[in-house]
Amino acid sequence: MLTDIGVNLSSSRYRKDRRNVLQNALEAGVGKLILTGTSLSESKATLDICDFFANDFPEMLYATVGIHPHNAEQFNHGTSDALYNLSAHPSVVAIGETGLDFFRNIASPKAQQISFEAHLELATKTGLPMFLHEREAESLQLEILKEHRNYFKDAVVHCFTGNRDTLLKYLELGLYIGITGWVCDQKRGSELRNIVSDIPIDRLMIETDAPYLLPQNMIFKPKNKRNEPSFLPWVAKEIAACRIECVEEIIEQTSINAKKFFNI
Ligand SMILES: [Zn+2]
Repeated sequence: MLTDIGVNLSSSRYRKDRRNVLQNALEAGVGKLILTGTSLSESKATLDICDFFANDFPEMLYATVGIHPHNAEQFNHGTSDALYNLSAHPSVVAIGETGLDFFRNIASPKAQQISFEAHLELATKTGLPMFLHEREAESLQLEILKEHRNYFKDAVVHCFTGNRDTLLKYLELGLYIGITGWVCDQKRGSELRNIVSDIPIDRLMIETDAPYLLPQNMIFKPKNKRNEPSFLPWVAKEIAACRIECVEEIIEQTSINAKKFFNI
């Protein structure tokens, strides 16, 4: 059974058929999903989804709570307490998504840094691992992580798309690496395809980041271009090809890693 560590299931693109999406995932062998919290309201919505499907899909849905760097301007004095309260929900397994994104700078770098540091403190306070995002902000992100490294337990850099140097620095800090369908894109993912074999198998996790990042190696792509957790095997397949390993090994080991990391 595969574990998809990054699913934006509260997205309105699943409004009409969330139950089918979960059923499809199970039928494709994707047995556990970690739903991503990206704002206070989305984190709440995600926990409502976990509760709503708890009986029909037992031990399948888990969640992170946090404020995405794009939403960092929303972060204020009350936010940490609100996230802390949400983190007591039994489905919550990580703090995030949080980090720095200087590629799009939708929120100011200062606001992103304040929010990120508050999330690190929250991870320390709750003992939960961190679900990290980073784009074109590796040097400051690494510097902040280093400062806090003795205090937070574990972290995964989700949807890693950086270069080899950055990858090695995250690994040196003992972090896990999440790989999405970015790796299936021959053009955009060319650098990632070359370095994915540098990730030790016991630090690798896989994710769809659905509904985004539809795997480009799919033979029959859905017309609406919407990604789903049931497409995760395409990501596993491509990683296996890049690493010259068998896909069963990738599936088994990434599931073991996720089970240990998220304590699920
Ligand atoms: Zn992200």
